[in-house]
Amino acid sequence: MSTGRNTTTRDQHRRAIARTKPPCALCEQPIDYTLRSPDPMSFEVDHILAIDNGGPDTLGNKQASHRKCNRAKWNRVGVEPRSFVTSRSW
Ligand SMILES: [Zn+2]
Repeated sequence: MSTGRNTTTRDQHRRAIARTKPPCALCEQPIDYTLRSPDPMSFEVDHILAIDNGGPDTLGNKQASHRKCNRAKWNRVGVEPRSFVTSRSW
């Protein structure tokens, strides 16, 4: 029986996604999995169909994203122009 602690499931999903280190599903740039929240470039789980819109809390409805990309999605859902110009020298 469920104990009502679904944060465990979320944690498992998060680890399952991070294990294969996929690129960001939103901007398609690689994710540095060593970064930690609240770094805007850190890994965050994105719900393909938002929970608020009836999306299931399953692994199949989740994908990897940058924290900043996930946040931007909430403000504006749409196709972003490829404006990631790497003019910066790291
Ligand atoms: Zn991204």
